[in-house]
This record gives sequence, structure tokens and C-alpha cells, in this order.
Amino acid sequence: VTLSARPVLVIQAGATLDGTAPAAGAQATALDRIFRDTSELLAGGAAAVAAVVAAVTAMEADPQFNAGLGSKLQADGAARLSAAVMDGTAGRFGAVVNVQRIHHPTRLALQLLAREDRVLDATGADRLADECREPRQDPVTPTRLAQWRERARPTTGTVGAVARDVAGRLAAATSTGGRGGETVGRVSDSCTVAGNYADNLSAISCTGVGEEIVEAAVAARLAAWVGAGIPLRTACQRMEQELRARHRRCGFIAVDSAGTWAAHWTTAVMAYRGEGPEGRLVGWPDPLSR
Ligand code: ASP
Repeated sequence: VTLSARPVLVIQAGATLDGTAPAAGAQATALDRIFRDTSELLAGGAAAVAAVVAAVTAMEADPQFNAGLGSKLQADGAARLSAAVMDGTAGRFGAVVNVQRIHHPTRLALQLLAREDRVLDATGADRLADECREPRQDPVTPTRLAQWRERARPTTGTVGAVARDVAGRLAAATSTGGRGGETVGRVSDSCTVAGNYADNLSAISCTGVGEEIVEAAVAARLAAWVGAGIPLRTACQRMEQELRARHRRCGFIAVDSAGTWAAHWTTAVMAYRGEGPEGRLVGWPDPLSR
């Protein structure tokens, strides 16, 4: 274990299909703040898994993102939330699928990492929430209800984070309200290894059209490529090319054990933040402060 690794964080707040972001200014400010706060945690020695959960929890708490409070609604007007956390060092994956009346499904997914049964459906997640005394809160906001009534397609997607901590450990967390207007009970990619994956060589979080992400097994295959010796940047470019060739709509963020990170998308854009050259904040929408 190297205790001197440079901590690296990348966060994403969804691929958008049409290139617009509602309240782009406010979203940019929120992303800047969440990126800075979580970076501080990592610099202070927080474990990668704690940092990705902190970043995703902060985005779940902000109603402008499609996760936790302010999640998109399924066809019947109910919010069903899914989230996954993967600890790359332990090689453990925990997830909850379509849980209701909760703001932080990611905290439940984190709890599951220590258990024998690590992926729970709504029934199991409900019981887990009671057991963990996770507050029961309605994540449906008036804005999402209005969008659902108008059958509008909101443009922001899933949220996620990948990190390398000072000990060189990697982790990924992803949380979503889903696509919006989907069939009741439809399951997102975010609570699968296609949408969220980490091992000791790379960590990946995806956003976009869940079915297309699952069909390409994006996160798990990327990790396998890096594991087979393909450099992260090359692996990510290859995945983007493959996704484009097959008209699959997906965005992803990734980090490797050397601290190299990447953000790619085949959609119009993807909201994200990472640290660029000379510690400059980079991403979309444009960071307000540099
Ligand atoms: N991946 C999510 C899903 O298909 C949606 C999104 O990222 O916008 O459920």
C-alpha cells in the first residue's frame, strides 16, 4: 500500500441527449461545490469508497439532479431509485433496485458491501432502510411531477463518482431515478456491473440509456480491458468508438490505479467534473471558478 498516492476524483451528473441542461448555471455551481468538498475529503485521507459515496449522496440531496430527491418518475408517477457502490480493493459490489420513499439509496448500497446478500430489490431495500434507520422521505418534487404530467423528457441523468484515494484504492458509486416515464418496475443499468464497476486497476461509472449500457456491459468490459493491460485512455477511446459504431447512447467516467482519469460520451454532452492540468477544474457545464 502506497500512502502517498495523489488522490483523484471524477464526478458525473448525467448524459444529456439534446445538449441542454436545465438551470445550467445552478447545476455547474453545485457540481463545483460537490467536487471541491469531496476532493478535500480525499486529500484528508478518506477512503475511495467513502469519497464516492459522499459525492453521490450530495448529488442525491440536490433536487436538480436525477437521483435521490428530485428523481425522475416512472410511467405511473412514482419514483423508483436504484444505486450501486463498488469497492475495488475488496472487489465487493452492493446495490439496491427500485427502492421507494428514500433520498439516499447509495447509503443502502454502501451498507450492503459488508453483507452476504449484496444486491436487494425494493422489498429487501425497504427492510434494510428500516434496519439502518434510513429516514423515509418522498423523493418526488413538484418539478418532476409537472414534467411527468406533461410527459416532458427532462434532460439530466444519473449521477456517479469514481475515485482513487491516498492509499491508491479505487471505488465507484452510481445513483439514478432512471430514464423517466419508463415501464413500472423497469431496472436501470446503474445498479448493475454494466453501469458501475471497480477493481484494483480501474473504476467506472456510467450514464445514458440503461438498456444500451447493459447490452454493451460498458463498465465491466472497460475494467476487463484495463486488467488485460490496455492503458485506460486507449480502453476508453475504444469503448467510445464501439458505442458510437453501434449507436449506443452512453457516457462514462473512469480512473485507473495510476491516477489517470477520463470522461467520454456518445450523447450530446455529459455533465462532469475532474481536475485538469495545473489543478484546474474541468468539465461540463463550464466550471465557474478555475
Ligand atoms: N442510465 C439511466 C437509466 O437508464 C439514466 C441516465 O443515465 O440518464 O436508467
